[in-house]
Amino acid sequence: MAKVRPRVPMREQTPLTRIHNFQSVPYGYNEDEAVEEATRCIRCRKPSCEPACPVTISIKDMNILISQRKFKEAYLLVKEDNFFPACSGRVCPQERQCEGACILEKQGQPVSIGKLEAFIADWGRNHEVEVEQVKNENSDKKIAIVGSGPAGLACAAECRKFGYDVTVFETLHKAGGVLTYGIPEFRLPKDIVDDEIKKLVESGVKLELNHTVGQNITFEELKEKFDAIFLGVGAGAPRFMGIEGEKLDDVYSANEFLIRANLMKAYKFPEWDTPIDVGKKVAVIGAGNVAMDAARTALRLGAGEVNIIYRRTRKKAPARAEELKHALDEGIMFHELVNPVRFIGDDNGFVMAIELVRMELVAEGGEGRMVPKPIEGSNFIMQVDTVIEALGTVPNRLFLSRTPEIKTDDRGVIEIDENYMTNIEGVFAGGDASSGAATVIKALGEGKKAARSIFTYLNG
Ligand code: FAD
Ligand code: SF4
Repeated sequence: MAKVRPRVPMREQTPLTRIHNFQSVPYGYNEDEAVEEATRCIRCRKPSCEPACPVTISIKDMNILISQRKFKEAYLLVKEDNFFPACSGRVCPQERQCEGACILEKQGQPVSIGKLEAFIADWGRNHEVEVEQVKNENSDKKIAIVGSGPAGLACAAECRKFGYDVTVFETLHKAGGVLTYGIPEFRLPKDIVDDEIKKLVESGVKLELNHTVGQNITFEELKEKFDAIFLGVGAGAPRFMGIEGEKLDDVYSANEFLIRANLMKAYKFPEWDTPIDVGKKVAVIGAGNVAMDAARTALRLGAGEVNIIYRRTRKKAPARAEELKHALDEGIMFHELVNPVRFIGDDNGFVMAIELVRMELVAEGGEGRMVPKPIEGSNFIMQVDTVIEALGTVPNRLFLSRTPEIKTDDRGVIEIDENYMTNIEGVFAGGDASSGAATVIKALGEGKKAARSIFTYLNG
């Protein structure tokens, strides 16, 4: 294979500047950079990147159109397959999806597909390109979508294309699910999320905010009023370690911490009335995307030192490679092979330290699986002002407790068949609610596929 040109680097805020603000870290490609990067694509006859994308964007054609400066055409092409390219281009784990499958990956430098997707989405937005959404306005069928995260919004967008009358019910006062309340501004600016949702509303989708299905509107009412229902309620309940001291003040779940920072705009205090004081030294437990977001947010909120505590090695951290790198560049410290034993409080009930134990990876079960085990006698104390637990999330039991007829597994994950239908006819589910905590693009893909199943169901 001929030698491949290196990727066009992304210009971004320097670590020293960005830790003092909440603005986007990357500046995004300009037109010339995008053209140069898209030209790196060698236009494979059978592009291996496309099947690796959960919403199967026509990546090769997108690259060709960008390389020819046909930006409008590239934007419309991408929007055909993905209603939310500005979001997915920024937060998808591309290194494990399209870019991981790109033929140039073998030489270590795949095409920057995600950054090109974000570029073209921003270009379409900045040039106010109109996208024809409704393909068939002759249906009188009504669809209820529960939850306005990526799964619900993608299902709504696709159902609207079929011409259905679509209403999305959302418990919070803002739509977007984790895109709005979880992922911080410096990774996914909220005006971008708001704009993609605005386009959906302009296409005719109705948004009912502050509506909790199972509380101020019952599931029975939905079944009576709508021809089909899609459940995209996510898996937003935090998981805890279950150790001593978790109830102390200033021990947060990452969800609570990020909701305060993002949705309640604590970083704009006192302009927004959400105080948040992280103190000097913060410990974040876990090493996934959520942990990186919490750690980087704490740094921007004024913490002098932020420590990631992880029971496995750094290499095993589940966070996206780019997010981990950004966090380390910003000065966040990574403590591998350590695990909390208990949180220690002061006389006023505030956390003041963590007792940690060192861990080692031990082969277990004969299959070579390495399991972290505590090393006896290796305990030590770390002084802290704030602890944030980022150990993953599980389905929220509130909705499920009000709808016991919906079949779930013992973790509360909604069971669906190959057509995304639950055990109740006409009731579909997708995203984290039916897969457990996963990714934005997986939720987008499932919402879209569920909409197609709804179409088949309603049209025989
Ligand atoms: P959600 O986004 O959770 O949306 C569910 C919605 O349903 C919420 O708005 C909720 O309020 C609403 N709801 C729940 N119950 C009801 C009810 N009874 N009535 C009405 N509304 C209800 N994935 C990536 O791919 N890349 C990343 O970088 C990434 N970073 C992440 C960072 C954080 C902090 C978190 C928490 C997750 C991250 N993820 C990331 C995971 C990703 O965000 C989720 O997999 C995705 O949002 C799931 O989409 P969803 O629509 O299924 O659920
Ligand atoms: Fe282009 Fe890589 Fe996709 Fe091939 S696999 S079409 S080189 S982006």
